[in-house]
Amino acid sequence: MRLLCDEMLKGLARWLRAAGYDVGMEPDGTADRQLIARALSEGRQLLTRDRSLLEIRHAKRVVVLLESDGLENQARETTHKLGIDWLLAPFTRCSRCNTLLAEAARPADFPPDVERAFRCPRCDKYYWHGGHVRRMRRRLEHWRTAFAE
Ligand SMILES: [Zn+2]
Repeated sequence: MRLLCDEMLKGLARWLRAAGYDVGMEPDGTADRQLIARALSEGRQLLTRDRSLLEIRHAKRVVVLLESDGLENQARETTHKLGIDWLLAPFTRCSRCNTLLAEAARPADFPPDVERAFRCPRCDKYYWHGGHVRRMRRRLEHWRTAFAE
């Protein structure tokens, strides 16, 4: 499943990427029509809170309209509408640009307890599985259980 989030759902997009989903984003201010065109051409489901997008031609094929406010509620609604698995492939994508990460040699200036490092081949950002990732993983695990009903 490939997704696209509009600019009102940036927080949700980051968490979906953390879970391992391929989630496209467009720069702020991108025209609605352009979002729909990208979703159609790339076979993506377009998550949005903006009902007016449904008026654009062919939008109904790709738009998934979310009615909830706040990250937690939006994550729950997305789970129910699309069957999201929050532990699909955690921390395998760059949260910034959506590219799949590659295992990298551990940089010398990393904290000593970091054993494995990952690098985004596109924007050159490094990732490692430290405390921040552990906290995020706990939240993904919680969502998977809590939203299963
Ligand atoms: Zn990147």
